[in-house]
Amino acid sequence: MNVILIGAQGSGKGTQADLLAGELGLPHVSSGDLFRQAMAEKTELGLKVKTYMDRGELVPDDLTVAMILSRLAMPDCARGVILDGFPRTVAQEQALDEGLHNVGKQIDLVFYLEVPREELLVRLSGRYICRANQHVYNVNTRPPKTPGVCDIDGSLLYQRPDDTGEAVQRRLNIFFSETIYLLDYYRDQGKLVVIDGNRPIEQVRASLIEAIQSR
Ligand code: AMP
Repeated sequence: MNVILIGAQGSGKGTQADLLAGELGLPHVSSGDLFRQAMAEKTELGLKVKTYMDRGELVPDDLTVAMILSRLAMPDCARGVILDGFPRTVAQEQALDEGLHNVGKQIDLVFYLEVPREELLVRLSGRYICRANQHVYNVNTRPPKTPGVCDIDGSLLYQRPDDTGEAVQRRLNIFFSETIYLLDYYRDQGKLVVIDGNRPIEQVRASLIEAIQSR
């Protein structure tokens, strides 16, 4: 089963994608995580995307599509995948459909985690992630047991530079002026399920599982 989670930054899609991936035994493929990993490892891709990421701008479609399609071709994605943060543009959406079609696959289900913009800003201002594995915490709603340290792997927590200042506003603007239009495409295909993301993590998770089971 190939599932896409669409949501603005701070909507909880990374957290929910992790939970769903665990529940369904599928890999969680996050374009943002893959880019951050490439940057941390200073690969050629990492060096190319750094400026875009720091500014909160979208990485060009050709780089993004190539990265994701090569990830989807790996053996662990054969049974399906939980996609998070991709696609974000119409060009990416079309490239994804074509790439899947070429190997006899398709997107089965698309969730939109709906959260009001004011709430997203509150969440993002408290968000910290761990250096080692990008586990997500929130100082207000989901603090780590030891301040500044990841509960799971003990690495230090940091605030993403693109979660603050102008970059965060730019990222939200891109989401609400561009990515949101992807919903129409999946709605027309009967694949879209809108989930109220402005609720506790457990309730959102339960709604996602229920929607999957009812398919
Ligand atoms: P995220 O962690 O999903 O918020 O992504 C962080 C940053 O990675 C974004 O602000 C973009 O610079 C880049 N990025 C992630 N996914 C994409 C995508 N599908 N298309 C273009 N840029 C992306």
